[in-house]
Amino acid sequence: MTAVTVEYIWLDGGSLSPLNKGGDPTQQLRSKTKVLYFADDDILDDDDNLMFTMDDVPDWSFDGSSTNQAEGGNSDRYLKPVFLCGHPMREDGFIVMCEVLMPDGETPHVSNTRAKLRDVLDHVPTTEEPIFGLEQEYFLLQNHVPLGCHTPYGPTNPTDQFKPNVHNITQGQYYCAVGNQNVFGRNIMNMHMDACIQAGLLVAGTNLEVAPGQAEIQIGPLDPLMVADQLWVARWLLQRIAEGFDTEVSFAAKPFPNLNGSGCHANFSTASMRQKATVVGDTTKGIDAINAWCEAARGRTHEHLAAYGYGIEARLTGEHETCSYQDFKYGVSDRTASIRIPLATANGGCGYLEDRRPNANANPYDVCRVMLETLLSAGAEASYD
Ligand code: ADP
Ligand code: MN
Ligand code: MN
Ligand code: MN
Repeated sequence: MTAVTVEYIWLDGGSLSPLNKGGDPTQQLRSKTKVLYFADDDILDDDDNLMFTMDDVPDWSFDGSSTNQAEGGNSDRYLKPVFLCGHPMREDGFIVMCEVLMPDGETPHVSNTRAKLRDVLDHVPTTEEPIFGLEQEYFLLQNHVPLGCHTPYGPTNPTDQFKPNVHNITQGQYYCAVGNQNVFGRNIMNMHMDACIQAGLLVAGTNLEVAPGQAEIQIGPLDPLMVADQLWVARWLLQRIAEGFDTEVSFAAKPFPNLNGSGCHANFSTASMRQKATVVGDTTKGIDAINAWCEAARGRTHEHLAAYGYGIEARLTGEHETCSYQDFKYGVSDRTASIRIPLATANGGCGYLEDRRPNANANPYDVCRVMLETLLSAGAEASYD
């Protein structure tokens, strides 16, 4: 007999989620574990390797009345497994991302933002092969202040040197730094990256960020559903690992007014954007396709900001490498713009764009959905149908 553990992960109802305080409507991760038992002959190959696939993962259900997804009298909500990967902390263990469905096992629950992304993808020509790379920033906190603020190296309160004073921090020494006086949380950051790789996620890299105790991991480039599923698993793993260090992960957009906020820059391209025009005057390819998308995004600023996470006005101030939420601009190599076109893309005449506006707490299903809706509004559907 072989026991296999599967961690089922899903998004709760947000809004009135018991996990949220102070009117924050952000959907939060939930998970629970199922143990499956197999006769060895059914699950092990001749070399005793586990042969576990998505076909072996049963649908499941949970108590939606505890997650703001159901009333107590009709509380069961359906978990539909959609993305399976390894569990880096458990032998014979797996993690499965799930969609939340109604009890009929078919109708998406209103909180099911992945289903809304699926609907939009139905209209995107498959030949456009959209791909995304997401840069997840986050703070590591203890007692509500960033890691490092409790050490003798941390910023001290003028009146009480043992009381951390976040307001005294001047940034500059922490970004991509080395050395005990500059770096707080590298252990967690690196353990998290290793865990993501071991789970089978496509990690592009990780780095320490501008504020103390702030870091980033990049997932992708991958297709929209895959990048979003993997980012949710990466967020779950980060919080799970930090639990073991008595450390809280904050994905809040702007937890400390005088420090950089946390974003989730969305790097995006389509097949058209990735290839140079071969015919003179063809404006549907390369940098022209990128500019066309940016112009379409200009007219949909409200839709984009609505999808980019709670508290975006506090983060997009125009300071700290952001463009004000009240402005829209795009530019080559411009980290004060809403959308940055990387230098290599501008020089090469094709490539990808970076929407710098999404918050760290943005739902990647919503981010990808609204960016693809803008693609469709820019005419991709019309010209390919
Ligand atoms: P930054 O300079 O903004 O900090 P990063 O190196 O942190 O950039 O992240 C860049 C991201 O862009 C990576 O996640 C990478 O996978 C992604 N990326 C690279 N090429 C493409 C592409 N053609 N389309 C979409 N995303 C891409
Ligand atoms: Mn980055
Ligand atoms: Mn960053
Ligand atoms: Mn970036």
